[in-house]
Amino acid sequence: MAVAELTIDLGALCANWQALSAKSQTDTGAVVKANAYGLGLDQVSTALAKAGARQFFVAATEEGAQLRDILGSGPDIFVFSGHMSGDTDMIRDNQLTPLLNSIDQMLRHVEALPGHRFGLQLDTGMNRLGMEDAEWRALREIALAQNPALVMSHLACADAPEHPMNQHQLRCFIDMTDGIEAPRSLAATGGILLGEDYHFDLTRPGVGMYGGLPFAEAQPVATLSVPVIQTREVLPGETVGYSNTWTAEHPTRVATIAAGYADGIIRAMGQEAWLWSGDTACKVLGRISMDMIAVDVTELDEDPDRLELLNARQSVDTLAEWAGTIGYEILTSMGARYQRRYIGA
Ligand SMILES: *Cc1c(COP(=O)(O)O)cnc(C)c1O
Repeated sequence: MAVAELTIDLGALCANWQALSAKSQTDTGAVVKANAYGLGLDQVSTALAKAGARQFFVAATEEGAQLRDILGSGPDIFVFSGHMSGDTDMIRDNQLTPLLNSIDQMLRHVEALPGHRFGLQLDTGMNRLGMEDAEWRALREIALAQNPALVMSHLACADAPEHPMNQHQLRCFIDMTDGIEAPRSLAATGGILLGEDYHFDLTRPGVGMYGGLPFAEAQPVATLSVPVIQTREVLPGETVGYSNTWTAEHPTRVATIAAGYADGIIRAMGQEAWLWSGDTACKVLGRISMDMIAVDVTELDEDPDRLELLNARQSVDTLAEWAGTIGYEILTSMGARYQRRYIGA
């Protein structure tokens, strides 16, 4: 086999969800947009539903329809992008709950599907989605009279606990929603960790369940093991890979592994990146290619069959740091051609 194997530990995923859930007294939902952050909507959502999750969140109506097929009737499925033109049938047929973002979406919804469940998204300063203060004040009484299933907003800086934006958004959210009867939600993973004031009635963790920061206590969920295609001896003065960016100073044992930037192993990680064989760290040599990477295995007693890029020692956030990005992007970029294996269900 010459494709990498991505092992997803559903037991660790559910343990992370439960640990996040235990941090608040309120209901805990689960964000499974973008194919459950790249780890597999079907397996991830099924495991979370078994663990007790009853409120799921997706980005798009199409994702919600797919999720309804997986979960069957029962769990709530909220759609962040709200009620978009053309989505009406899918929202109705799949019993989805759009989170309405504007007066236009509100009108579209109540005209097309009167009496159908909906939630409301408010903007408290991120300026991405949701009704702004003035819009909300104009609509508030009419919208609340229709019994929204949820009123929510989203924090822009929750991964930085000291950031003044957190308190600012909290105050805006309270100001906009104080005294309403509908359940309220403000916190994703970062917001859960900011403490009780941010929890309201329902939290919406995503990345922490999948083993990423800012949930530093998370158990690792993804292990990536890449097969070695070929191993060779490289002599002092010889180079490895495109553009000759690495030159051997000593005799070096070089393994070529079967994964590259086409699999989401971001090329910009380049010379920072390491892989593991048991307890030994092995350095990436030269440029990352589309489907291959050269790795220094000189230190190993035997040529390895496989090397690990993600494991308990090295998380999506380690890779993110090498690449100058965030764990979320590493997760959601993981190769379509990886063989995915699920354990711990
Ligand atoms: C993605 C997203 C979440 C989940 O955020 P994490 O940081 O992954 O926990 C929650 N709410 C909204 C609106 C989102 O877009």
